[in-house]
Amino acid sequence: MNTQKLNIAMLSLHSSPMGPIGTQDTGGMSVYVRELSRWLGARGHRIDIFTCAGDGASEVELYPRVRLIHLVHLGGRLGTGPSKADLPARLPRVFEALDSYKRSHRRHYSLIHSHYWLSGVVGCMAREQWKCPHVTTFHTLAARKNRDSSMENEPDLRLASERRIADRADRFIVPVQDESRFIEETYGAPRSKIHIIPGGVDLERFMPMDRCAARRQLNLPEDAFLILYVGRFAPLKRVDRLVSAVARLRSQGRKVQLVLVGGDDPGTPSRQALEAAASRLQLEDAVHFAGRVAQEALPAYYNAADVMVLPSDYESFGLVLLEALACGTPVAATRVGVAPQIVEEGINGTLLASNRVSDLVSGIAGMMRTKRAAVDRLRSTVTPYGWPGIADAVVDVYVSVNTNGTDPALTEPI
Ligand code: UDP
Repeated sequence: MNTQKLNIAMLSLHSSPMGPIGTQDTGGMSVYVRELSRWLGARGHRIDIFTCAGDGASEVELYPRVRLIHLVHLGGRLGTGPSKADLPARLPRVFEALDSYKRSHRRHYSLIHSHYWLSGVVGCMAREQWKCPHVTTFHTLAARKNRDSSMENEPDLRLASERRIADRADRFIVPVQDESRFIEETYGAPRSKIHIIPGGVDLERFMPMDRCAARRQLNLPEDAFLILYVGRFAPLKRVDRLVSAVARLRSQGRKVQLVLVGGDDPGTPSRQALEAAASRLQLEDAVHFAGRVAQEALPAYYNAADVMVLPSDYESFGLVLLEALACGTPVAATRVGVAPQIVEEGINGTLLASNRVSDLVSGIAGMMRTKRAAVDRLRSTVTPYGWPGIADAVVDVYVSVNTNGTDPALTEPI
């Protein structure tokens, strides 16, 4: 294991790792940034996470050696919490605030790790000014969203910015091979700078428990086949199709229930649209909206379920797949994120042919016919994804860029 201790500026600008996870702009990336930072801190590295989201204290210590810094508080320069839509125009000012924090607190960073394109843009500015390596994780790519989902139309500004980041960053961390090929072919990122490291899972939190006890705890029926969805209600997640699939399964006489965890608050358009769909299909008794559930309380939901379904058009990481399997619950997913890598057909789940309602129905019906494998066998398919090992793999990338800077300018003292 590498013993070099690093000071890392972690940029998570549009979404706070302590934000309301499960809502529109706060999902897997927040969990990723929080867990990665926690484990980096545990390994002795120092991490300053910078965000413009939320309205918490200007600076808080989240874990040993891990600080969360709200840039919005800095001298009132940015006003209060720019929304994600306002951020692109304000990125130069965000960099000014970041730079001013670094100078006034006399911080020296070994490297910058940016998350999502908005942070990537600021990461490029910081790299240039601070002469400091820049590692980036896109989380999702605009060109891929636009290609893979008819529900998305990412703007040219994001596309152009991602191209620029691909041209300038020192290292790219992507979760799967597929995404590596895509940023190489579409954005021209050099293969030698791309590292494939999947997302992680907290194997101590996401543990198997008794299924009946979990259902009793959550007040869920014990005699139905329980389908679970966990995540945001973003259009590309295709939760609407899952609701339609449940209606069709019930019309075939199958006793299924659907639990939806996450999503925006009651009264928001995304939530209302799903409630209206459930009501139109007369599923009021079959679809349960659990709302946003804190990570600590999620294991009971995964454990209560017979299958966790992820019908998305596109995912980069797909953390919920790892979490479900860590609890010993099989999954049914489209070929997104880590799914093709971890799903062992008929053992820990199934890869859906597509997210058309008919394919969701046949995939879930197939799972209903398959004898469930032993919980330990299911869990064993994701034990290599525990956060400590994933964080170590990320450190290897940091060290590679920190010691042999790709640009002579990077060796200058900061
Ligand atoms: N999540 C949560 N509470 C909720 C809904 C989701 O904690 O109510 C978490 C979930 O456990 C997972 C993350 O949000 O860690 C979603 O990550 P994923 O990679 O599956 O999807 P993304 O949000 O990145 O599209």
